[in-house]
Amino acid sequence: MPMSKSFQDRLFPIAEELAKHYGTPFHIYDETGIRETGKRLNQAFSAIEGFREYFAVKALPNPRILTIMQDLGFGFDCSSIPELISSRQVGGRGEDIMFTSNNTTQEEFLMAAAEGGCILNLDDISLIAKVPVFPEQVCFRYNPGPRRTGNVIIGNPVEAKYGITHDQVISAYKLALERGAKRFGIHTMVASNERDYTYIVETARMLLQLAEMVEDDLGIRFEFLNIGGGLGIPYKPQDQPLDLDKMSSEITDIFAEFKSSHGYAPRMYMESGRWITGPHGTLITRAINHKSIYRQYIGVDACMSSLMRPGMYDAYHHIDVIGKTDQEKSETYDVTGSLCENNDKFAVQRSLPPIREGDLLAIHDTGAHGHSMGFQYNGRLRPKELLLRTDGSVELIRRAETVADYFSTLNFAADVFPA
Ligand SMILES: *Cc1c(COP(=O)(O)O)cnc(C)c1O
Repeated sequence: MPMSKSFQDRLFPIAEELAKHYGTPFHIYDETGIRETGKRLNQAFSAIEGFREYFAVKALPNPRILTIMQDLGFGFDCSSIPELISSRQVGGRGEDIMFTSNNTTQEEFLMAAAEGGCILNLDDISLIAKVPVFPEQVCFRYNPGPRRTGNVIIGNPVEAKYGITHDQVISAYKLALERGAKRFGIHTMVASNERDYTYIVETARMLLQLAEMVEDDLGIRFEFLNIGGGLGIPYKPQDQPLDLDKMSSEITDIFAEFKSSHGYAPRMYMESGRWITGPHGTLITRAINHKSIYRQYIGVDACMSSLMRPGMYDAYHHIDVIGKTDQEKSETYDVTGSLCENNDKFAVQRSLPPIREGDLLAIHDTGAHGHSMGFQYNGRLRPKELLLRTDGSVELIRRAETVADYFSTLNFAADVFPA
């Protein structure tokens, strides 16, 4: 399991005190782990000039976390107005922000261009004519279609709604030139939670080939290639981690080859979310009910509003019962929330130590696409977020939603369209 031993050793001994102080459930993130992972990524690609990670804000859109990303030298990958606002609130400006929206509105284009703008990543050729303030620098999202196979979460590129096709690449950049663009990048995102590093290397190779093709045809040179995110983490104890060192050394080599044959190389950007923060978050929840029917059910005080992935993708999240060891595993449980949806289960037929009401459970790897995916269906509210800081202190970085928050959208001036 990827939640590090170090995080467990610092968190588990204080979990009960934290639960008493803050109340459960909560996500807690490990600042030390996030910083170490960020530095490791920067280090791994240090031989590629101008390498930059643009943290995928949707993975963990908490301003306190975004400040850490900025400290690491990262930019921000955004795809909505609130994500642009949060990135700017923590100081992101201009080229610190990449706006990778799809099905984009005029309002979004205007917001992207506001406050010093950002790198605009266009998802379709038809959008070129619709961008109200055409920027000097532009990027397109490339969808390789049948040239690549996808994976489970992101799907097969041919069926994916994103990006421009291979055949549209030349016309897209030509049209952008005509609208006055002078600086160019190219982007793709073809993987999700991919632990096979060779897939990511292939993506870098694919974009370098496109750079060559566009330069040959239009005489423009890309300033950067953005190979997207999608780096996978091991959710299951037996999963092999992605081999970052092999990945970075092979990508570094192909950039060096490109440079020696072309006399220049674009910068490389990446927009990882999960790999940076995923393992460094955990959802702490208390067992409140033990129900014994056809199966044994452990009801906890968190539900899908805190973590959608198991219900939505059938995703595995490892679970520890705090204070009990793997050697004590003797029971088989479904660990459930309280939604009136039978897929509101954090674990199905999981072998765990005997759980008593009041025990604390740590649901691993909730640092990315965890809290941020939560919803209010069934009147269930999203939980708080805490940060375990490098000095061992703990900070509340988002309060829990309240019933008043739930009802807040019902407070409005009457607006009746007459019959
Ligand atoms: C979601 C997303 C990412 C991040 O994906 P991870 O799996 O968290 O690495 C990056 N880029 C785009 C465009 C995305 O939509």
